[in-house]
Amino acid sequence: MAKKQFKAESKRLLDLMINSIYTHKEIFLRELISNASDAIDKLAYLALTDQNVGVNREDFAIDLRADKKLGLLTVSDNGIGMNKEELEQNLGTIARSGSLQFKQEHGGEEADVDIIGQFGVGFYSAFMAADTVTVLTKKYGEEEAWMWQSSGADGYTISPCEKTTVGTEVILKLKADTDDEQYSRFLEQYELQNLVKKYSDYIRWPIRMEMEKSRQKEIPEGEKEEDKEPEWETYTELTTLNSRIPVWLKSKKDVTDEEYDGFYKDKFFDYEKPLAHIPVSVEGAVTYKALLYIPAKAPYDFYTKDYKKGLQLYSAGVMIMEHCEDLIPDHFRFVRGVVDTSDLSLNISREMLQHDRQLKIISGNLEKKIKQELLNMQKDRREDYEKFFAAFGRQLKYGVVADYGMHKDVLQDLLLFWSAKEQKLVTLKEYVEAMPEEQKHIYFAAGESNARLAQLPQYQRLQEKGFDVLFMTEDVDEFVPRTLMTYMEKDFRNLATDDLDLSSEEEKKAAEAAAADWKEALDFVKTALEDKIVRAEVSPDLGSHPVCLVPEGGMSFEMEKYFKRMNPEMAMPVEKVLRLNPEHPAVRKLKALSTEDPEKAKTYAQVLYAQGLILADLPIEDPQAYTDLICGLL
Ligand code: ADP
Repeated sequence: MAKKQFKAESKRLLDLMINSIYTHKEIFLRELISNASDAIDKLAYLALTDQNVGVNREDFAIDLRADKKLGLLTVSDNGIGMNKEELEQNLGTIARSGSLQFKQEHGGEEADVDIIGQFGVGFYSAFMAADTVTVLTKKYGEEEAWMWQSSGADGYTISPCEKTTVGTEVILKLKADTDDEQYSRFLEQYELQNLVKKYSDYIRWPIRMEMEKSRQKEIPEGEKEEDKEPEWETYTELTTLNSRIPVWLKSKKDVTDEEYDGFYKDKFFDYEKPLAHIPVSVEGAVTYKALLYIPAKAPYDFYTKDYKKGLQLYSAGVMIMEHCEDLIPDHFRFVRGVVDTSDLSLNISREMLQHDRQLKIISGNLEKKIKQELLNMQKDRREDYEKFFAAFGRQLKYGVVADYGMHKDVLQDLLLFWSAKEQKLVTLKEYVEAMPEEQKHIYFAAGESNARLAQLPQYQRLQEKGFDVLFMTEDVDEFVPRTLMTYMEKDFRNLATDDLDLSSEEEKKAAEAAAADWKEALDFVKTALEDKIVRAEVSPDLGSHPVCLVPEGGMSFEMEKYFKRMNPEMAMPVEKVLRLNPEHPAVRKLKALSTEDPEKAKTYAQVLYAQGLILADLPIEDPQAYTDLICGLL
């Protein structure tokens, strides 16, 4: 029979398995059992939704069989089975996108070992323990049965075969024992029993094996017990090896952290253990159990369209949806987990599900649980929380801004921002509680880096007063205070755009009087700079700096940059106001020159404007002209 070749990606994965130096080869059993369980799930689902499918739920099982003489281990199931095309498709071209992608990103030999240990690696892992793998399978509803066989990288064969029952049988011819690895242990019943307990205990369907056991022979009637030494006999008994209770259905006290973490890694293909698990059990208007996880890292595609949010939805132990989006709000889309409820109709369509009242109640509850868990972590495990925030903080901020701020109450306490004074991340609550009594507003500054922001003249002024400033350096940041508007009744003030409200009433009056005195000089500056600015004004908030530039009309320079990046054509330039420090010698000189030597005063105005650009982190429009200006003055 002609051998068929594996597709390139499959061959790579296969080579990886065959030549694996990975020490936990035993996980192949978990993988085969998991496939068998999936196949049964599929047939069970069919039976639930289609009256014509005549299978009995009680009959579903996964059977292990060890033949020591021949060195064969068989894993069989009575699930959906495969037809010829599926056999070809599924076992000839396996591209576990998740694991292969991971490998490409992380590369290297060690990654090979890692990837096997951390991810599920699927069917091909059988080749870590077997020389030859034979699959006999018959698909539900079809007449013919098929055999797939392969001894590794040189290809595989598919041929018709005899099989009366629906389902799949995977037969491994185990490798010969070596000094490093005792493959024959996979034929020992206690070893198999332990492996099932360790890796597959929660599998919903019974995993059975004929176990050899021994018992005391019955004492024939009439003979007295003390007369004889007890005699023993061996017998075999079909034994279910797994407890069959899914982790999420177990009571919290019966599950160890390791078991929770292991289940997560297995189920959601993550190699890092989660930051938190949240077991939920609710009885009431809707009765359900859920097990949620907060991952430690954002998946590589998290901030792209490819990422699929959603929880796995089970109904009475049968998975009915892999990614049920309606169970989780967008701002918590990083959460992974399962929800199990019998209160849902199975035939419900996706569209109907969206409007399902039960589902709404569940998702509302889960949102609260997640928030609470995050708040607890923020309080008790700050380091973990910062790790979480580094991964998903951006998502929370998007959540605040999205839907016109509809979710801000849920999210505002979860945010962290960089405190310039404390030099660490703080919550808004921590910021407000640390405010000196005379501070009336929450101050923030947005820009490209903390170092740049620390140079803002306005910041230095606030620093002198002992007021803290939140530094915001992510593109979404600046939209957050605009959406929140206030926090604990304090409003937000943007250093770059807003009145910092630092002067007393008398100081304000004095400033107004002074402004009248400055009117002519300010008009002069405006004329000198033409349409570069909309206005010049004096400001008492500039500390030791001569000038600063502020945007007019609500938009900030950072937003301008942001929109320009998003869509250069649509971006509208923000108009600028030049603020002058009336106490600064250079500004006073400018004022004097504006009547004495207008030509020179114009140069002053241009230089000061350029200073403003630099401080606001804006590009100098014409660096050559600027350099000439400075040199002219020197
Ligand atoms: P995965 O299970 O992640 O899809 P695998 O490499 O383990 O990857 O299996 C590839 C495919 O082969 C499965 O998706 C499934 O369609 C099919 N398959 C594997 N084992 C069985 C089985 N016991 N019964 C039916 N189909 C199976």
